[in-house]
Amino acid sequence: MRRFLADASHELRTPLTALRGNLDLLRRGAFTDTGDLATALSDMHQTVVRMSRLVQDLLTLTRLEHGSDLVLTPIEVEPVLHEVARAGQLAHDRTITVEVSGKLRVVSDSDALHRVFLNLIDNAAKYSPDDTPIQLRAHTDGQRVAIDVVDQGVGIPTEEQALIFQRFYRRDKMRSPRSTGVGLGLSICQALVGHLGGSIAVRSESGNGCTFIISLPAAHHANQVAG
Ligand code: ADP
Repeated sequence: MRRFLADASHELRTPLTALRGNLDLLRRGAFTDTGDLATALSDMHQTVVRMSRLVQDLLTLTRLEHGSDLVLTPIEVEPVLHEVARAGQLAHDRTITVEVSGKLRVVSDSDALHRVFLNLIDNAAKYSPDDTPIQLRAHTDGQRVAIDVVDQGVGIPTEEQALIFQRFYRRDKMRSPRSTGVGLGLSICQALVGHLGGSIAVRSESGNGCTFIISLPAAHHANQVAG
């Protein structure tokens, strides 16, 4: 908890310092050029958006730690994957394909599922070239349904694969200080999937894309093929 508070404070301190700097300059009338003023205001706006997201993510994680209000019902996988694919396509202007073997159903919470897959699609879009597709693939062994989110991006080296699920862990922290993520997305995914009775794993080779695998309990008759 102490470490969590220290990390959260540190993450908030950086954007607050940036905001304070810009506000000081504004107060002193330093922006005589309208272009500079517009840039400063836009930077400040982005900083506030980022802080809001951070606070929202922190609240979500804290809530999940104290239990969850998820409602578990049988849910058909294919329509959910098409919905998140459409949303991801709109948000990122990317090709997102859906491949489902049979009529698969999981015992899950619809909002939580959407949240997890949208998060994984956002990451896939962020870390892979625009002209490569993102694939959603679902299959089952009868007991569990596995849903893969596959990208053809930068990948994650083996030694870092366990670390990416830790809170505030970001591989691109140093390289891209303006990156919008704060390293909480995958922690939230892992906490949500845990509450759904599932698991999340990653398979990747550096430079060769990533596959995030979400495994969830199958609903009864999950392996029946529609027909
Ligand atoms: P953020 O919101 O900052 O992206 P996440 O918790 O979602 O944080 O991810 C943590 C780190 O894992 C990211 O900084 C990134 O380095 C790495 N990562 C996540 N998804 C992918 C992916 N699809 N391809 C490559 N790296 C990824």
